[in-house]
Amino acid sequence: MGGTFDPIHLGHLVTAEQARADLDLDEVVFLPAGQPWQKEEKTTSAEHRYLMTVLATAANPAFSVSRLEIDRDGPTYTIQTLRGLHSAVPDADLHFITGADAILNILTWKDADECLDLAVFVAATRPGYDLEKLEAQGVREQVRVLDVPALAISSTDVRERFGKGRAVRYLIPREVEEFARKHGLYDTKGNGLALGGAV
Ligand code: NAP
Repeated sequence: MGGTFDPIHLGHLVTAEQARADLDLDEVVFLPAGQPWQKEEKTTSAEHRYLMTVLATAANPAFSVSRLEIDRDGPTYTIQTLRGLHSAVPDADLHFITGADAILNILTWKDADECLDLAVFVAATRPGYDLEKLEAQGVREQVRVLDVPALAISSTDVRERFGKGRAVRYLIPREVEEFARKHGLYDTKGNGLALGGAV
């Protein structure tokens, strides 16, 4: 499961669990993006995002978190991740789960055709998502769509709530909330954003 996870929230966790059950997956490996180069705004350091993802997933035996993307230098290209996973577990039936709006742009990704060959792409959608957007991009046939009501939660909203001092309880795991507060990741001064990587 790919994402920036800035921060990881319950919508991501519900998506992962729903994908695991619906697609009969053995496990879900979370892949925090190291340098999500197509994002316009700055992101929290990769190390902080990785640790929040570990905290959020630790209790589920079917979930794990990979450092593959955060330990790789340069912009994060999904094709490099898929090649790495494919050579590590050549017999595995790989699925790449992420948000539908990210998959909308898949044709602009590096080596998009090879990405689609190496894994089944699973597009998680929020309630009311307009599937015609995927059709218009010509990728509707190539991706599985997963409708996840809990994806009404978004990382953007969670960050804004932190910034305004509003409650985030029941939107993100308690451990993630405490970690983010301890490190001042989303306070109004933006402490923690784009830190080097050391914690
Ligand atoms: P994004 O643009 O931040 O996210 C687009 C939408 O998808 C947002 O609504 C986001 O909600 C949602 N989303 C993201 N990850 C999700 C997940 N795991 N489950 C459910 N919803 C999710 O997308 P991004 O995080 O930068 O990129 C998503 C994935 O695509 C990453 O793995 C990234 O490396 C990959 N990607 C690859 C390339 C490439 O190879 N060239 C280019 C772009 C992206 P939230 O903000 O609430 O998560």
